[in-house]
Amino acid sequence: MKFCRFSEDRLGLIDGDRVIDISDALAELPDLRWPLRPGDELIWHLDAIEKKAASLMPGALAYDLASVALKSPVANPSKIIGAPANYDDHLAEAMSDQGIAHGRSKPKLGEWGLFLKANSSLIGPGEDIKIKFLDRRNDHELELAVVIGKIAKDIPAASAIDCVAGYAIGLDMTVRGSEVQSFRKSLDTFSVIGPCLVTRDEVPEPNSLDMHLSVNGQIRQSSNTRLLRMNVEELIAFASSFYTLYPGDIIMTGTPAGVGPIQPGDTIVADIQNIGEMTVAIT
Ligand code: MN
Repeated sequence: MKFCRFSEDRLGLIDGDRVIDISDALAELPDLRWPLRPGDELIWHLDAIEKKAASLMPGALAYDLASVALKSPVANPSKIIGAPANYDDHLAEAMSDQGIAHGRSKPKLGEWGLFLKANSSLIGPGEDIKIKFLDRRNDHELELAVVIGKIAKDIPAASAIDCVAGYAIGLDMTVRGSEVQSFRKSLDTFSVIGPCLVTRDEVPEPNSLDMHLSVNGQIRQSSNTRLLRMNVEELIAFASSFYTLYPGDIIMTGTPAGVGPIQPGDTIVADIQNIGEMTVAIT
């Protein structure tokens, strides 16, 4: 299933160029009391939501996908994890461009660990990316986003795929500079997830997905997740060795080559095989 959150926090299923409104499935979620447990309640209850959604689909209202504003399908992750330098061709372009490297030297695999992006940076494709620092270089990074489906701690790579709820297209937006990643990549609107959460059963080969990103119709990034240095399962194992992962946690798996600056007025179109396509405006 392809779950999306749209307009006034409605829950939908994307079906081609339509959104089927299955918001009544949200009745499956419990009344919440403080303190909330970590993670996203929709993902905690995804099995029940899927069953309810299937029963609601016949007769449900549908809208044109183009007519709704898509938000992040994950509303409340406990964290957004980033993977630096996870494609060789991006590492090569970064090391040959001081506008990206800012004096950093080439890391060995895993040497930079992972980084965290502020949850407050998270938006969906229907919400514009807002450039705050016009005098700095602001880059797009196209990434496969993995959404965790259950509590995961010290998970070996061999069983890591069982921890995945699904996948989405991710944009790890970045201010280039010498500051640490969590600072430069956590501005409001600098984490985009969309157009939907595609459940794991619909993505049998997450480490073999074509991906593309264009800016104003010009292709900038074109790659495949088979070129990941740490693949999906290895990233989950690595992340879960340092952090407990909770349902709804997002791992942005890293960007291939072709990153580049964007500015207000630009439009990004991004697609990943088995997931779909999303259009995001820059303001
Ligand atoms: Mn990135």
